[in-house]
Amino acid sequence: MSTLIDRKRLLTVIARAQARYIAGGDPREMFDDLLLDLLSLTGSEYGFIGEILHTPDARPFLKTYALTNISWDDDTRRFYEERAPRGLEFHNLKTLFGEVIVTGEPVIANSPATDPRRGGLPPGHPSLDAFLGLPFYSGHRFVGTVGLANRPGGYEPDLIDELRPFLATCANIIEADRSARERIAAESTLRRTAERIQAVHDSAVDAIITIDTSGVIETVNPAATSLFGYRADEMIDRNVSMLMPAEIAVRHDGFLRHYLETGEARIIGVGREAEGQRKDGARFPVELSVSEVLLDGERFFTGVIRDITERKEVERLKDEFVSSVSHELRTPLTSIRGSLGLLEGGVLGDLPDAMSGLVRVARSNTDRLIRLITDILDLEKIEAGGLELRLADIAPASVVEAATREMRGLAEQEGCGLTCESIASPLVRVDLDRMVQVLTNLISNAIKYAAAGGVIEVRTELAGADGVRFSVRDRGPGIPEEMVEKIFDRFQQVDGSNTRSKGGTGLGLAIVRAIVQEHGSAVVLDTRVGEGCIFSFVLPAIVECSSGGPAHTG
Ligand code: ADP
Repeated sequence: MSTLIDRKRLLTVIARAQARYIAGGDPREMFDDLLLDLLSLTGSEYGFIGEILHTPDARPFLKTYALTNISWDDDTRRFYEERAPRGLEFHNLKTLFGEVIVTGEPVIANSPATDPRRGGLPPGHPSLDAFLGLPFYSGHRFVGTVGLANRPGGYEPDLIDELRPFLATCANIIEADRSARERIAAESTLRRTAERIQAVHDSAVDAIITIDTSGVIETVNPAATSLFGYRADEMIDRNVSMLMPAEIAVRHDGFLRHYLETGEARIIGVGREAEGQRKDGARFPVELSVSEVLLDGERFFTGVIRDITERKEVERLKDEFVSSVSHELRTPLTSIRGSLGLLEGGVLGDLPDAMSGLVRVARSNTDRLIRLITDILDLEKIEAGGLELRLADIAPASVVEAATREMRGLAEQEGCGLTCESIASPLVRVDLDRMVQVLTNLISNAIKYAAAGGVIEVRTELAGADGVRFSVRDRGPGIPEEMVEKIFDRFQQVDGSNTRSKGGTGLGLAIVRAIVQEHGSAVVLDTRVGEGCIFSFVLPAIVECSSGGPAHTG
């Protein structure tokens, strides 16, 4: 069978191109040689091999991998030399090669000058006597086009078949090159993203530390090294407890284990204040937020730590200011209150109606101010550790009775029921006055916020083998979940208008929390919006539980 091209040479050309591509040479140089071989195999004068790409609005165009230099003047020479190495783009599809791109079919034009598909040549362009355009595919994907010109005698359809192995090689190499380019681009995007994240990590003002599930430090950022005074290599691979004061450090592994075993978080997922310890032993207040990360099936924890020394100092100054103002106000206010009380009580004779109304308003507002000042000073004393508890072993029922006695009048006035159910033993070790203050605060809140006519239940009961639970329950509006932590802080109210409408100071629960903490316990709030609140705390029982069943009062 006669062939138009030298088949053996064609196979050698293909094998050489594949070997060069696999060896990792520059694909453009390889295509340059491939094009030269193709021109000589087919007896063509000039031509191109190019890839089909698409504009952002999805219009196809040709970008050359190899193109014969047919420049005909200085301008076209310069243009070729500058652009050809990176590939030239051809977007005009009303041309013979455009016809290949548009139809995806081979194009033979042996009389280009009169061919209706031609696009015309720029002045000076070498003459075009015959043209063969061939598409090549990878599967169904139209990958590129080969264009050949000026084979003496023109191009025959049989040539198309004979060039099939050549076209398949072009398609394979361009496809491989394209995916290599995509991989490189993806890798570089990934690298850039990683570098950005690293830069954020490195330049963060807050310390960022990651630990594994056994508490061992895996990474630290520069802010962490300067905050704690250690070098990174002194921290990495050591237990994070090295950054905490000893009394917290000994418990830290236990916290972590407890979380991993039960999923009960004390700190993970929530921010809280804590204390850090520097290399030189200095302790400082921090705000710590820990989050859990699961990456490729591996679990670790990220802690963001902010030094809040300054903020604490400002808070201390503010508290000091408030407390000294309060001290200064207390004495004159008490005297004003006394005078107003005397006036109201008629010491100077009966007051005219209009005046007695005003005196009553003045007296009740003075009462409120005194309450606020007493609360502020109380809280300050407790928080400064200046609260000396006068502890005695007392029956829970006695505490409850003392508190309810004080509150019964208010409850009646507000139309609330007040019931209590209390055990007489075991005894609890408390400061009676302070414990009564806790319960009266909780009961007065229940009266203030629970709907009028409701019943408030005060209880004490056994909690496990060695504890007594005190609780105050109302069936009022309850407290939204997001406020539960906050309302124990100073001046935090669910509804900011409470101060005026309910006569609150926003300090009651802070005092309750502080006193209960001084007794070595913690207040728990169990609440659901619309169903009410149960405030409770458990105190250790002093004596083994004896018979004495529940004592009912109220
Ligand atoms: P206040 O002086 O405002 O009562 P507290 O510290 O005692 O200050 O309480 C803080 C806030 O908690 C209250 O303003 C109120 O919004 C909410 N609160 C306290 N107890 C109850 C309760 N039993 N039912 C509903 N809300 C309550």
